[in-house]
Amino acid sequence: MLVRVAGAGVCATDLHAIDGEMEPAGVSPPVVLGHENAGFVEATGELVSTVSPGDGVILYPPYSCGVCVRCRRGHDMHCERHQFTGLTVDGGFADYVLVSERSVVKLPAGMDPTEVAPHADAGITAYHAVKKVAHLAGPGSTAVVIGVGGVGHIALQLLRELGSGAVVAVETDERRLRLAKELGADEAIGGGDVVDAVREHTNGHGADLVLDFVGSDGTHADGLAMLGHMATYSMVGFGGTLSVPSAAMIGGEQAAVANLVGSWIDLWEVMQLHASGRLTLKTETHPLDDVNDVLSMLREGEITGRAVLVPGDRSEP
Ligand SMILES: [Zn+2]
Ligand SMILES: [Zn+2]
Repeated sequence: MLVRVAGAGVCATDLHAIDGEMEPAGVSPPVVLGHENAGFVEATGELVSTVSPGDGVILYPPYSCGVCVRCRRGHDMHCERHQFTGLTVDGGFADYVLVSERSVVKLPAGMDPTEVAPHADAGITAYHAVKKVAHLAGPGSTAVVIGVGGVGHIALQLLRELGSGAVVAVETDERRLRLAKELGADEAIGGGDVVDAVREHTNGHGADLVLDFVGSDGTHADGLAMLGHMATYSMVGFGGTLSVPSAAMIGGEQAAVANLVGSWIDLWEVMQLHASGRLTLKTETHPLDDVNDVLSMLREGEITGRAVLVPGDRSEP
């Protein structure tokens, strides 16, 4: 189906793609970037049966075939015929984007696609990561979110929705630290020795769960060092190298897990949660023509929450 783009979120992965770091994942520019897309169905092929022209939709970015074993298990993002809208095939930094019917989640009535576009990747990535470890975020637990950016600010709220322990935000940027407090973080740690600060907050025990949305050598080291016994270090941001003595992990029975986007059902569930008013998505809109300026702003850390590109005057059906 052809979808008229109403908004396309700008993600740090776009910078990785531009910098040529995504080639091992099959991303070889030139390609039209933009994988956090929402808009209105413009036209459909004759076999499409679940949406009609004019419907508001958000687009699940991985292509999934539906017939391989991983697809049938519900792990769409590990499809054997994997493609990714806006990375391996042309995406939504454009007026229109072409996707298969399996990519579409119909928006609940009255939902503005421009406002929710970042859920297509930022939202499901946060949801997938938090859902996987939510059993560790029970009463009396402490979960640490490292990096309160586009994905981290959603994860922080999801730890509240899917868990019931304390949530600690670690963030060096003053504006994002304020955002963490506004969104209900119990504790917000800025600079200094963050490992000490987390140990202090947990009476020396360390965190039960650490979600790292940065993924640098520094945050990998800090995230592992602040774990308590039987705790899990969960990676979403990437780029650094993990280095940890196995004796430390075995002594504490600690785990490290990694997360890749999320499934179609993760996106559907995030949209239901958003529709119920229990998620705040912090966005700012920019004209699509300013795409290069917005990418530079993201690179310089000047975006709080998520920037969404809007083509021309296309936010209405
Ligand atoms: Zn992304
Ligand atoms: Zn498949």
